[in-house]
Amino acid sequence: MRLSVALVTILVILLAGCAGNTGGNFTDSTVAGTPAQTTVAKTTTQTVETRSTSIAFPTTTPEPVRVDPDNPFGQSQIDVSIDSKNLEKRDLELVDESLRYWENNSERYAGYPISFSIVPEQEPHRIEIAFVDRPIACKNEIQTTTVGCAPRNEETASAISYVQITDDETNQGTYGTLVHELGHTLGLGHSDEPQRYMKPHQTDPLDRKPITVAITKDVGNIQILKKRGIIKALNYLRDDPEVNESNRLDWELVDSVDDADLVIKVTDHHPHVCIADSGGSCFAQGEYEDQYQIILNNVDSSAVGWHVIYWLAPHVYGMSNVPSEFQESAGYDTRHGGWK
Ligand SMILES: [Zn+2]
Repeated sequence: MRLSVALVTILVILLAGCAGNTGGNFTDSTVAGTPAQTTVAKTTTQTVETRSTSIAFPTTTPEPVRVDPDNPFGQSQIDVSIDSKNLEKRDLELVDESLRYWENNSERYAGYPISFSIVPEQEPHRIEIAFVDRPIACKNEIQTTTVGCAPRNEETASAISYVQITDDETNQGTYGTLVHELGHTLGLGHSDEPQRYMKPHQTDPLDRKPITVAITKDVGNIQILKKRGIIKALNYLRDDPEVNESNRLDWELVDSVDDADLVIKVTDHHPHVCIADSGGSCFAQGEYEDQYQIILNNVDSSAVGWHVIYWLAPHVYGMSNVPSEFQESAGYDTRHGGWK
């Protein structure tokens, strides 16, 4: 794939040289002279320095390279580099997946086909992706809630489109932000399709469908009875006919906390979480900014299910419709299995 890119690039340089200068002198100024498309000029300017000595004069008149007028890059093969600072292995995989998403969907949504190659930072590229700490500065505004920033390339793309992504989101959050920002570089705005990705605000983790759930333990393995109790509770919220169909908990179990919208964490004795003394549960933000956590601190295996439902019930039933058995006032027997 790289070879064909190089050939196409050389072809463009030759055409630009032929059109702009009868002497066939391939220098930066010649190339930057009067090419038909400014985007082509930017591309050639980047490549001239490394390739000028190996360029041969054309012996025939090649056909001009056809540039799709809808494509702001002026080329359908885009090289992408990733800033190695803050880069984690999972980021690389997510970038790869998000580029593949647009290879498969650009023609449909942006109106032209595109293909991407990830290249080393020092090689010429049209898109540069960096994973950064919050807050992100975007269009001179700094907001802690901003998760990504990229130029929207409507008519033409500049030599390099810089894409910033926060490094504190779950895998699915990071993927969604990457797809969104890359969509901007392809020319799409916030009201464009696919709205699943292009709408400007992220979906609340508990509104994702399905919600991905990781069940973890602070130290050692989780007791099988506790795990079963938690799964039973989640299935109850999925299947309860009292719940409006669209609100039922569509959930799936995942192995990794990095993939979870919701982490249910069992701790045997953790004096500083939730309730300071004995047993209890609490709801908190997870390790990632777009992740929730239910902590079950020293809760009996017969009561873990009740605690899970207690925290999710307002979301599933609606704040004012939570059944009495899942409210704070529920007694010992209800909590320890009496609810089902
Ligand atoms: Zn946006």
